[in-house]
Formats: sequence, C-alpha cells, structure tokens
Amino acid sequence: MKSWFRDNINAMAGYTPGFQPADPAAIKINTNENPYPPSPKVFEALAQLGSLDLRRYPPIMADGFRQAAAKLHGVKPDMILAGNGGDELLAIIVRCCCGPGRPLAYATPTYSLYPTLAMIADAPVIEVPYGDDYAIPPKLKTTGAPLTFLCNPNAPSTTFVPVASVAELAQAVGGLLLVDEAYVDFAPDNSLRLLQDFDNVIILRSMSKGYSLAGMRFGYVLASEAIIETMTKVKDSYNVNIAAQAAAVAALTDQAYFRRNVENIVSERARLTGELRRLGFALADSHTNFLLVRPPKLSAREIFEGLCRKNIYVRYFNASGLTDKLRISIGSPQDNNALLAALRTLLAQE
Ligand SMILES: *Cc1c(COP(=O)(O)O)cnc(C)c1O
Repeated sequence: MKSWFRDNINAMAGYTPGFQPADPAAIKINTNENPYPPSPKVFEALAQLGSLDLRRYPPIMADGFRQAAAKLHGVKPDMILAGNGGDELLAIIVRCCCGPGRPLAYATPTYSLYPTLAMIADAPVIEVPYGDDYAIPPKLKTTGAPLTFLCNPNAPSTTFVPVASVAELAQAVGGLLLVDEAYVDFAPDNSLRLLQDFDNVIILRSMSKGYSLAGMRFGYVLASEAIIETMTKVKDSYNVNIAAQAAAVAALTDQAYFRRNVENIVSERARLTGELRRLGFALADSHTNFLLVRPPKLSAREIFEGLCRKNIYVRYFNASGLTDKLRISIGSPQDNNALLAALRTLLAQE
C-alpha cells in the first residue's frame, strides 16, 4: 500500500523547538522569552473577559488590535493581519506563495522554521549563505523566488542589516520580501517605513519577545491591503483566540511599560556581553535579546551539558556553522548572574 502521507511529509524531520523544562526553578534562557512579566494591563484585560467573550467566536480580524496597532504604527488598519503567533503568519504566507516549482529563498544560517514550512508546502528552498560580515548576500537578490524571507535582526547571529540594504533587496527581488522582525524591539531601527515605497514588502512582528507574551501566542504582519486580503483568504476564520486578542491590545497600548522592559534587557545585554568577553567567549555585538557565543577551552557541547547539569538551559544547535557556538537568551539580572557563576565554575574545572 502507498503511504498514508505525502512524500514530502514522510521525508521531513519536523521543527525542533527548544527544551521546555518542567521545573519552575530551572534557569530557562534557551528560547528567547522575555524574563519580565507582561504589563499589569494584560492581567486586567484578561480578568475582564466574560462569559459572552468565551461563548462566542472571537472577532475574525482582531479589529480592536488592528485599531491599536494602526495608531501605533501610523498605517491603515486594513494593512494589518493578526496571527496565532508570528509563526502562524509565516505558515500562511508560505501557503500563499510557495509549492512545487515555487521556491522559498532566504540567507543562512537563520530561523530553522523556514525550511520546515517550505517542506510542508512541498516547495523547494533556495538557501544563500551569509558571509562572515552577515551583510545581505548579493545572490539573495537574484533567486527569482516568489517569496524571500529576511530575518532582521537575524537569529541566531544577532546581527542587524541597515534598512537601506533591506530596501535594495526589496527593489531587486521580483517576488515578495517578508522581513521577519521578531527581534526588532531590541534593534536600532526597523523596516516599517519601506511599506511606503514598496508594494512587495511584508513586515512580521511578534508579541512573544518584546511584550512577554510567548505563551499567549500573538503576532501580526503589516503589508499592503492587497497582500493582507490574500493572506486573509488562507487563514483560519478564527485564528486568534479572544484572550490573546485582549492581551495583545493591552500590552501594545502600554508602551511605557514595554519600553522600560526593553531598556532593562538591552542594558543587561551590554553587561553580559562584557562579562562573557572577559571570560574569553567570542561574540558579536547583539541587536536582539540573546547572544551567540563561542566558548573558550571547552567545546560548546561540553558547556551546554555542564549547564544542563546545573539546571541552566541554553540552546545548542547541531547545525552547520553553529556546532562551536551557544545561543543564550538575556535573562533577568539574577538569571545572568547564575549563568556567569556556572560558567566560571565550568571553565575553572577544566
Ligand atoms: C520568535 C520568532 C518568531 C515568531 O514567534 P511567535 O512566538 O510565533 O510569535 C518569528 N521569527 C523568529 C526569527 C523568531 O525568533
């Protein structure tokens, strides 16, 4: 008998998410979550949800959120689409654009979900390697792919390419360019203004990192009304639940709280970068809420395993170009101090 499943599904491995330790005392700095709680306004909004909100289907287009985000970003509400996490919106745009003979293009190394989404769609990928400087590789401009992803700031490299370079890429690619700005809250600039000049640009934002709502699942894209209309055809009718919509509005409209948390993380990022360099770790200046570090003396895997034994979880990628490095999310000052103490012990034992 033939397989129950499509050949491309049988052939793919599936995305590997970061480890989710059950122990609440674990120091979890492996999936770039925010170490600070969401805005108190989020809890107030959730407490106000009533029976009607739960009994009825949620607003199909997350209208309240669209209004709030349109005001914040200075775009029309019709240029915004909400998703059940940014990842859902990546899946939707791949379903819109890619399939057999219709490739997804991106520079590598980058977010490892991208090839998984292409495989599910039975679409080829065009992977263009970054150079050591992590500038946009010129070959990414000439792939001819209907859809190109650019993660900026990029994960896991922590690097940021100037918006002028993103504009050149938008100009050069024939197809759509999605700029994945999941980490933009920690970066010096963003590509939102490109929407004014380019009808092929899509900006992706997530509430998981800067707004501390990873568990709530909420992301959104900004793009031309025509692109939003097409993506709306492909999404589930009720793709974002009512609690997530309420939480996202409350978090987004408390910009003062958001900015304070981001500033705290950025200042801890500077401190941790300096301390790790003093310990002999090699790392680039980060424009995200995590660091990509190459350890001294011990291998990345040995450090990873040594930290696991101390109930501290960082991310190790068994992937080309990354096996000598660790990705470490910026935690609270206490998390970061525990990490530094554990690293000092591990390196001293060597
Ligand atoms: C976190 C992340 C996203 C979106 O995550 P959601 O939790 O689904 O909003 C998208 N791209 C990158 C590179 C990310 O790290």
